[in-house]
Amino acid sequence: MLDRAQERGMMLSEEASQQVSQSELHAMAYTDPLTGLGNRHRMRDKMRRLVAERAEDPAPFAICIANLDGFKPINDLFGMTAGDEILCQVAHRLKACIPDGATVTRHGGDEFAFVFPLVFERTGAEKIGQMIRDVLSAPYDLGDRNVRLSASFGFAIYPFAGEDFEELLKSAETALYRSKRRGRGQITVYSVQIAQEMKRATQLEQALRNAIINDAVDVHFQPIVALKTGMPVGFEALARWNDPDLGFVSPAIFVPLAEERGFIDALSETLLRKATEAAHSWPRELFLSFNLSSAQLMDPGTASNIVSILNRTGFDPQRLDLEITETAMMTSAETAQRILLELRDMGIRISLDDFGTGQSSLGRLRDFTFDKVKIDRAFVARITTDRASEHIIKAIIAMCDGLGLQVVAEGIEHLEEAEILKRFGCALGQGYYFGKPVDAAATLEFLNERYYDQTG
Ligand code: C2E
Ligand code: MG
Ligand code: MG
Repeated sequence: MLDRAQERGMMLSEEASQQVSQSELHAMAYTDPLTGLGNRHRMRDKMRRLVAERAEDPAPFAICIANLDGFKPINDLFGMTAGDEILCQVAHRLKACIPDGATVTRHGGDEFAFVFPLVFERTGAEKIGQMIRDVLSAPYDLGDRNVRLSASFGFAIYPFAGEDFEELLKSAETALYRSKRRGRGQITVYSVQIAQEMKRATQLEQALRNAIINDAVDVHFQPIVALKTGMPVGFEALARWNDPDLGFVSPAIFVPLAEERGFIDALSETLLRKATEAAHSWPRELFLSFNLSSAQLMDPGTASNIVSILNRTGFDPQRLDLEITETAMMTSAETAQRILLELRDMGIRISLDDFGTGQSSLGRLRDFTFDKVKIDRAFVARITTDRASEHIIKAIIAMCDGLGLQVVAEGIEHLEEAEILKRFGCALGQGYYFGKPVDAAATLEFLNERYYDQTG
C-alpha cells in the first residue's frame, strides 16, 4: 500500500513528466529535426514577438531567405546522406556566423531563413548577405571529397515589405526568386520597384511565349560589307518583335528574358529557321551571320539542335557564321569550347561579337577557335574624336591579322569612320551607313539595287 506522501509524490512526478513531454513537444514543433535549427514556426514566432516588442515605436528589422545554388545535383550525385551532411554543416556555419540576437531557421529542403533585428535598411542587408555568402562558399568536407556551394539571398525589411509574417515572407521570396533568376550567389533586397520589375518581366514573358507560338517574332537583316568596295558579303540576322499591346520590344531585352526564363531554344529555333529560309533567296556566296545567346553556349545540345534546323531548311553550314560573346564563353568555358569545335567541324564559322566590351581576355583569342572578330560599336563611334579608340582599333586589327582572323567593324554610321577603318586595313564593316536592319523582302530589294547591278 502506498502512503499519502508517496501517492502525492507519484502524482507530482507524473505531472512533471507530463510537463516535460509537453515542452518537448513544443520544442519539436519548433525544431527542424535534421539540423536542430528552428523551423518556420520558430521564425514566425520570433518575428511576431519582435513586432509586438516594437509596437510602441516601430523600428525596422530584416528577414532573409537563403537558398543553396545547385544543391539538387549534389544530392543526386553524392546521395542523400552526403546531402544531409552538407545541410548540417551549413546549419552549423550559419549558427556560428550570424550576429547576436539574430535567428536562423530551416524551412525544409535547402532553404534557410533569418531574422535580423538590427538590420534596418538595404545596405546593411546586403552587407550581411555578403558575409553569409562568403561563409557558405568555403568547401564542405564529406570525408573522401570536398564540395563547394554558393547561395542566393532574398531580403525583406519590415514594415516596408510587409507588416505581417506571411506578407514579409512573400516579399523575401520574391526577392529570392529574382536573385535565383540572375544566376548564382546573388543578393536582392525587396523593393516596390523590384516587385514591379518582376511583374513586368512575367507579363513580357507570357507575351513573348505567345508570340513564339503564333510565329510573331520576326528576323531582320543588316548587311556586312567589304569596306574596299562597299559591296555586301553577308547579312547579320537580328530578331524583331513588335507586340500589339507592348509595342516594339528590343532584342536586347527579350533575348536575355528568354534565356533567363528557359525558352531561348524555342526562340532561337524559330529565328534560325526564318533566317535560313530567307537566306535561301540570296546569292550563294553571301553568308548569314546569326547570334547565339550565352545560355546556348552552356547547353551541350546546341550543336545538334542547329544541325537539325539546317538539315530541315536545307541550308549549307558553310554559309553560316555564328556570333558569340566573350561573356558567354567565360561562364562555362569547357562546354563552350566543345560546342564551338562541334560547330566548326560541320563547316560553320564562329565570330566573336562585341569585341572589347566584355572582360576581354586576349588569351581567349588563342585558346578558342574563331574565324572572325567584330569590333564593338563603342570603339567605332569614337574613332574620329578619340585617339585612344583609334589606337585600340589599330591594335585589334594588327592582332587579328597576326592570328589569321577576319575583322568586322560594327556600328559604322558615317563615311568618315568607314574611310579611317579602311585605311587601318579593316576588311569588313557593318552599320547604318551601309544599311539598317530590314525585313526579308526589303533585303531582297537591297540586293537588287546594290548587288546584282554591280556583279552583273
Ligand atoms: P549585336 O549582335 O551586337 O547586334 C548589333 C546591334 O547594333 C543591333 O541592335 C543593330 O541593330 C545595331 N546596329 C547596327 N548598326 C548600327 C549603327 O550603325 N548604329 C547603331 N546605333 N546601332 C547599330 P539590335 O538589333 O537592337 O540587337 C541588339 C542585340 O540583341 C544584338 O547585338 C544581339 O546581342 C541581340 N540579338 C539580336 N538578335 C538576336 C538573335 O536573333 N539571337 C540572339 N541570341 N541575340 C540577338
Ligand atoms: Mg551580333
Ligand atoms: Mg555586336
